[in-house]
Amino acid sequence: MPPPLVRGFSGTDAPAAAVYDTCIRCGLCLQSCPTYLETSLETSGPRGRISLIRAVGEGHLDLCSPGFVEQMSECLDCRACEAVCPSGVRYGRLIEPARAQIRSAQGAQDSLLARIGRYVSLQLLFRHLGLMRALASVLRFAQFTRLDRLAPLAGLGDLAALVPRIPGSAFVARGQRYETPQAAGLAFLHTGCIMHVAFPRVHEATVRMLQRAGLAVTVPPDQGCCGAIAIHAGEADLGREMARKNIAAFERSGADVYVVNAAGCGSALKEYAEMFPVSDPWHERAERFSSRVRDVVEVLDAVELPSPSIAFDGTVTYQEPCHLANAQRITAAPRRLLMKIPGLRLVEMQESTLCCGSAGIYNLTQPEMARRLGERKATAIGMTGATTVATANPGCAMHVDATLRRTGAQAHVRHVVELLDDAYPRERFSY
Ligand code: SF4
Ligand code: SF4
Repeated sequence: MPPPLVRGFSGTDAPAAAVYDTCIRCGLCLQSCPTYLETSLETSGPRGRISLIRAVGEGHLDLCSPGFVEQMSECLDCRACEAVCPSGVRYGRLIEPARAQIRSAQGAQDSLLARIGRYVSLQLLFRHLGLMRALASVLRFAQFTRLDRLAPLAGLGDLAALVPRIPGSAFVARGQRYETPQAAGLAFLHTGCIMHVAFPRVHEATVRMLQRAGLAVTVPPDQGCCGAIAIHAGEADLGREMARKNIAAFERSGADVYVVNAAGCGSALKEYAEMFPVSDPWHERAERFSSRVRDVVEVLDAVELPSPSIAFDGTVTYQEPCHLANAQRITAAPRRLLMKIPGLRLVEMQESTLCCGSAGIYNLTQPEMARRLGERKATAIGMTGATTVATANPGCAMHVDATLRRTGAQAHVRHVVELLDDAYPRERFSY
């Protein structure tokens, strides 16, 4: 029997008419939208998607109609449209609730296999980071023994290609404390889910740079995943659970600032309050929390750092993470930090703010569009002649790196903070 038609939105996690009605249909966002640029289809652009959301909200279109579901999935949630909209449409406040509505209507119709996959990936792995580390160990073993070459036989070729070289040890939040003489404050380091197993060296570089910025650093063990992946996948309740955990951990820590080095996480952490109705006591706590969240590049850019002394001999181009440039509106700070490095030549790529196709788990759910956008990005990188691509988000780092390897390009990808940290001597530090 076909599922019943669903007209209109319901419940608290719903796109609000007050948001979609601010769209004046001017179309100024179209040329910023990666999926519109790739398809030239109105429905694959922000204006078309907002019209679809309005049509469902007003009861003219079924929530679970294939066209609507497809467009809500094809959108990268990169928020490039939001950054250029003259009418101030808060597009992120439409797409994420729209996905939550679809999820809640379709959840019961998922196959058993899909439900198990969703439970294992979202409810287990991102909630219990010990399991994430166990999975990382398995992946590391598969990479070491070259068993990962068999992944395509199991239909996991795209996933295996995306996984970076897993290092021997993770950066686990165990309550470490890194003291700094005459510290100006205490920074709480958010270690995240993917970041702490795939890029522990970025956390190590972040600690050293925060110390150079005059801050002591604490890494409380009661923190968790930021919830961005769950929120983007329409799992609003799980996102709220993760938000409550991080807010409470920060309150207990006594830290002055909550520092994050993954742009996607930072964007979610700064918007926690929007997940709770104003009447919920967590709303106010979330507002207080989010006012203390800073991307590491913001922290480092705001202080007088000691002058870096080790030269970088190479050309770097900067790939802007969507959730740093579009959601947090941070574009100048990472460039200013890179320019501090002696010898570094920064060359801008075309379309630096255009999404690379990573977008959380988009490269797994929409592999064809992710591949097209990745190759578009690789071409733009190639035109700069850069040997290094700097970025500030693990998802971008993995997707761009995988695309460069697939296309035979020689450039490699590094976090802005790693490049900056390399420009300083390390004797003072225990790593
Ligand atoms: S720029 Fe803003 S107002 Fe104009 S069509 Fe896009 S979303 Fe609507
Ligand atoms: S969030 Fe990105 S992909 Fe989605 S409509 Fe806006 S610009 Fe296009």
